[in-house]
Amino acid sequence: MTAQIIDGKQVAADMRAELKAEVAELKKKGIVPGLGVILVGEDPASQSYVTAKERACEEIGLYSDDNRLPADTPQKDLMALVEKMNNDPKINGILVQLPLPKGLSEAEVLLAIDPAKDVDGFHPMNVGKMVVGEKAFLPCTPHGVIQLLVRSGVKLEGAEVVIVGRSNIVGKPLANLLIQKNATGNATVTVCHTQTKDLADHTRRADIVIAAAGRPNTVTADMVNDGVVVIDVGVNRVEDATKKRGYRLAGDVDFEAVKEKASFITPVPGGVGPMTITMLLYNTVESARRAAGL
Ligand code: NAP
Repeated sequence: MTAQIIDGKQVAADMRAELKAEVAELKKKGIVPGLGVILVGEDPASQSYVTAKERACEEIGLYSDDNRLPADTPQKDLMALVEKMNNDPKINGILVQLPLPKGLSEAEVLLAIDPAKDVDGFHPMNVGKMVVGEKAFLPCTPHGVIQLLVRSGVKLEGAEVVIVGRSNIVGKPLANLLIQKNATGNATVTVCHTQTKDLADHTRRADIVIAAAGRPNTVTADMVNDGVVVIDVGVNRVEDATKKRGYRLAGDVDFEAVKEKASFITPVPGGVGPMTITMLLYNTVESARRAAGL
C-alpha cells in the first residue's frame, strides 16, 4: 500500500479561503478582527514565524498590530503592553511569540492575557475549559492536527491513537481533544514519552500514530501496521551538504519507508506546519465574532 499524502498546504489554503470570506462578511457589519503580535528579541526562528503570521493576517484581511521589542525589555514593560492590548477593542487576539528571552517569565505573561483574547489557547482558563469539554480557544497545532484528520475523512470514533510526545503545546492537549465525547473525539488514546518501555509495542497496534517527539526517525516502518494513518508534527533540522543552507527539514517519521505501509501520511514540510498559523487566524476570527455577540 502506498499512502495518500495529506496535503497540509492545500487544507490550510482551503481553510484560509473560508476565513477570508468570513472576514469579508464581518467587515460588512463593521467588524475587523485584529491580532496583536508581540515578539521580544532577535531569535531568527521566532522572527520568521512572526513574519509568516503577520503575512497570513494580511492575506485574509485581518488587522494586525505588530510589536517587536528588544531582548532586554523589562518584564513590567511587556506586562504593560499586554494590558494595553487587553483593553484595546481593535485587538481580538493576543499572540506572544515563545520562547521569550532569558530573564522574562512566560508563565506571568501568559497568565496576564485576557482569556477572551488568548488565541494561542495557552491560558490555564482555556486549557481547563478544553479539558472539561467546554467552549474554549483550542491550541493551534493540536487543533490543526484534528482538522487534517477530519478533513481527510479519517474516522476518529473508536480509533486507537498513539501520540509520541507529552508536551504542553502538542501531546497533552491533543490527547485531551481526542478523548472528548464529541464528533472530533471519541478515540482511545495512548500517550508515549521517553519513559515508555516499548514504544514500538504501542505504535504497532495503533490505527493512527501522531509523532511529536522532535527527533528524526522516531517512527520507522517496522513500528507501524499496514494501513496506519500517520501525522508527523516534528520539525527537525537534519544536516544535508547538498543544500545551500547545510540542512534540510525532516519530521519525526521515516517518511519514505512509512508511506509504503500507511493509508494516509503528512509530509514535512507541508503537513502540520501550515495548519498551525491557520488555526491562529481561525481563533482570532472566532474571538471577533464572540466580542460582537455573534
Ligand atoms: P518537546 O517539548 O521537546 O516534547 C517532546 C516530547 O517527545 C516529550 O514529551 C518527550 O518525552 C518525547 N520524546 C522525545 N523523544 C522521544 C522518544 N525517542 N521516544 C518517545 N518520546 C520521545 O517538543 P514539542 O514542543 O512538543 O514539539 C515536538 C516537535 O513538534 C518538535 O519537532 C517541534 O519543532 C514540532 N512542532 C511543530 C509545530 C508545527 O506547527 N508544525 C508546532 C509545535 C511543535 P519526555 O516528556 O519524556 O521528555
